Amino acid sequence: MSAFPPNPDAERMVRFQTESRGVRDARVLDAMRRVPRDRFVPAGHRADAWADRPVPIGHGQTISQPFMVALMTEALGLRGSERVLEVGTGSGYQAAVLGELASEVFTVERIAELAGTAARTLEDLGCANVTVVIGDGCRGLAEHAPFDAILVAAAAPAVPGALRDQLADGGILVVPIGESAGVQVLTMVRREGARFTIEEGTGCRFVPLIGEGAFDA
Ligand code: SAH
Repeated sequence: MSAFPPNPDAERMVRFQTESRGVRDARVLDAMRRVPRDRFVPAGHRADAWADRPVPIGHGQTISQPFMVALMTEALGLRGSERVLEVGTGSGYQAAVLGELASEVFTVERIAELAGTAARTLEDLGCANVTVVIGDGCRGLAEHAPFDAILVAAAAPAVPGALRDQLADGGILVVPIGESAGVQVLTMVRREGARFTIEEGTGCRFVPLIGEGAFDA
């Protein structure tokens, strides 16, 4: 991504919404200081771009709360060399943050119009290592697998099998699991060879993952 001028709004967001709540990974905090979140929010909601909550992006979808972006990104433990899959591009903001922290990012969105807008924003900002794909992310992206890290930005009823199977050895998958309308649990799945371990984290609230093996439209 091209260099961005220091942004006092981003600085405040990082300090008071993420650092103060325990996110410590300096690379994650730095990426969130740099990515201009306001560019990913529709013009009518720009005043809320840095607010401590999800913001509507159209089609009944939202750009996730900054703290949730930080927490999920930190959980992936990215060092810079990884190939990452995101399911649920939405505005493209989370993908841009991942692009700052990994080598290559693929992000899948089922709503073509959101995917188009996100792809344009990412291109305008020079996020050259992020690729937006239109489709059902529940199936993953077999042609680009395996992935060192997978982030699902929508709530699933259970860990999507295809995503689990597309994890690289040593890879990690972060996905909110639970009822579509209720509270979900942020769930981390780690792969060591043929072995998968599951760890449950904080409660969270996401829009539903809609597709094969998840919720109906
Ligand atoms: N990460 C986004 C926010 C995601 S909101 C951001 O930074 O703005 C969740 C998104 O997941 C919505 O845009 C929704 O359309 C999408 N989605 C839901 N089910 C999906 C599926 N099966 N495949 C791909 N995208 C899906």
